[in-house]
Amino acid sequence: PEQLQRILEQQLSFVVRETAPAKKVYGPDEVRHAIHNGELVNYYQPKVSSRTGEVVGVETLVRWQHPVDGLVFPDQFITTAEQSRLIDDLTRVVLINALKQCRGWRDDGLDLSVAVNISMNNLNSLDFPDFIVDVARTAAVELPKLVLEITESQLMNNPVTALDILTRLRLKHITLSIDDFGTGHSSLRQLRDIAFNELKVDAGFVHGASQSPSQRAILRASVDMARGLGMQSVAEGVENADDWNFLLDLDLCDIMQGYFIARPMPASAMKDWMQEWEMRRHDLMAGIGRNG
Ligand code: C2E
Ligand code: MG
Ligand code: MG
Ligand code: MG
Repeated sequence: PEQLQRILEQQLSFVVRETAPAKKVYGPDEVRHAIHNGELVNYYQPKVSSRTGEVVGVETLVRWQHPVDGLVFPDQFITTAEQSRLIDDLTRVVLINALKQCRGWRDDGLDLSVAVNISMNNLNSLDFPDFIVDVARTAAVELPKLVLEITESQLMNNPVTALDILTRLRLKHITLSIDDFGTGHSSLRQLRDIAFNELKVDAGFVHGASQSPSQRAILRASVDMARGLGMQSVAEGVENADDWNFLLDLDLCDIMQGYFIARPMPASAMKDWMQEWEMRRHDLMAGIGRNG
């Protein structure tokens, strides 16, 4: 029994050590302060063509440069913003920064589309489409260059106004993307009725697909459906050479995104990364260095 006790204690301490400390979730006052004091920073993660390896665009992912806590990730403040209507201001700040940056890159000779994640709550504001058009006009970015990503799980409980606003955004030729596909349950009818331009298959079906027949089946079915509906397909979560090779060899999906290609980075890092990628992509597309 003493020995058993010792084993149990060892196992228990192992469990305790292995459990990550609970992440702090920030409250509305802190998030409001961050938004209105310019503490939010846009990071950017490239999306590349699976045909040529060329960079087709970037997705902006918000970070909070907290004066004391350091770099804070969206899972620690987006939900708070969504629950307190601060999401309107947050989205506006992220959008303005992203479109300014998009224009800046174009002036530097980089023609990139820029994707912004929006929340379903943003689609309660009837002036949202006009606001976007204004920001894009000020930044002199053409509307098709702006991609709005909305997660599939938020689409299911769709108030009529949200569908209406999505349709109005499409009529303005803004590109619409359905994010984390496979994790929510949007209806096939919604997919048909709202003319989404892009479908992003959730990382959960992409990373490790070469080792999992069931993941592969869902990945393939999603990509086929996207193609049939005239949508571009994006594989998220391309984390390593295995994922990359698998997608390329089976000619699955049009666009790839993930840590294997690049981690999200500040705008200032993009030019150097692009130069490195130019060399790396030639090797990767030729099948050289695929296992590195
Ligand atoms: P998302 O839009 O699906 O973005 C993909 C997330 O996966 C990002 O996490 C990205 O850094 C991460 N990621 C990218 N490649 C890989 C990979 O190869 N492997 C793994 N394991 N992860 C990868 P992040 O930046 O922490 O953002 C999390 C979520 O927060 C986003 O998911 C998006 O739903 C939300 N979010 C981010 N920025 C904004 C924003 O400005 N507004 C709103 N409303 N939501 C945002
Ligand atoms: Mg996204
Ligand atoms: Mg996603
Ligand atoms: Mg996500």
